[in-house]
Amino acid sequence: MVEAGDTARVLLCAGEPWDDFVAWSVAQGLAGVECLSGIPGCVGATPMQNVGAYGQEVSEVITGVRVWDRRERSQRTLHPRECAFGYRDSVFKREARGRYAVLSVAFALRRDGAPALRYGELQKALGEGAPTLARVRETVLSLRRAKGMVYDPDDPEGRTAGSFFTNPLVTPESAEAVTAAARAKGVLREGEAMPQWPTIDGRVKLAAGWLIERAGVKKGWTVDGAGVSHRHALALVNRGGTTRSLLAMAERVQSRVREAFGVTLEIEPERVG
Ligand SMILES: Cc1cc2nc3c(=O)[nH]c(=O)nc-3n(C[C@H](O)[C@H](O)[C@H](O)COP(=O)(O)OP(=O)(O)OC[C@H]3O[C@@H](n4cnc5c(N)ncnc54)[C@H](O)[C@@H]3O)c2cc1C
Repeated sequence: MVEAGDTARVLLCAGEPWDDFVAWSVAQGLAGVECLSGIPGCVGATPMQNVGAYGQEVSEVITGVRVWDRRERSQRTLHPRECAFGYRDSVFKREARGRYAVLSVAFALRRDGAPALRYGELQKALGEGAPTLARVRETVLSLRRAKGMVYDPDDPEGRTAGSFFTNPLVTPESAEAVTAAARAKGVLREGEAMPQWPTIDGRVKLAAGWLIERAGVKKGWTVDGAGVSHRHALALVNRGGTTRSLLAMAERVQSRVREAFGVTLEIEPERVG
């Protein structure tokens, strides 16, 4: 770690466990990754899908990604601009798919910075006042645990890849059409607002979990050993099924949402083989 003014520059090898880094940052009083507490996996994977949660994304603090370029057979450092970060997206998932092995990632964190409090559910759980980074981390972990989103080998609801669908990004007109469809179906009550967030590119992000539940998918719904989590509509859980039954379950959920709202949910986990 190198500090200059209020900025702490931290370089981490790709194989470091992500949450150890978050815990360390919070303990050091360094802000920038506190809302990304409890996400399983290693540092080197975080730029792949621009890991994000509770209103924060790793791209906000990445200053460089050191890679082995398999095509050029050399090492180089990618500037964040070259990583083309987007919502659960980056160049690593697109044009440069399979080209780079991430060796290390450089971050810039803020010494004594305020925690990022942008996400309604987190703000509500924290209540009034100015929470410390440690309190934000604990609150995020407890919200995640309640949804089975912290890896726990003893939790049968934890046999999941995390959120199975990304939040759809749609045009403002489509968002209005979804709201109208929800009202027409009677699943959006008078005076209730559909969760949605404007994005910087002019689109609107919808809440996939909300769409799934309002499309009539019940938590716990299970077919052939693959089911919707009892605690989190966005997560699919392995209850003794196969990959085929998991993907069939995903398709059932997608169909329900498509029929109800005309929105196609994208699958978040990468499928191999
Ligand atoms: C319970 C649970 C909760 C989750 N919650 C979230 C969440 O809140 N937000 C979120 O964004 N994600 C979440 N995820 C998804 C997952 O934790 C992240 O995608 C994480 O970054 C995966 O890390 P990994 O080391 O396991 O990578 P892997 O799953 O092994 O790999 C993911 C991809 O990255 C590539 N990759 C990995 N390391 C490197 C490297 N060094 N160089 C090049 N390519 C590499 C792999 O080839 C693969 O394509 C969750 C998953 C689970 C199981």
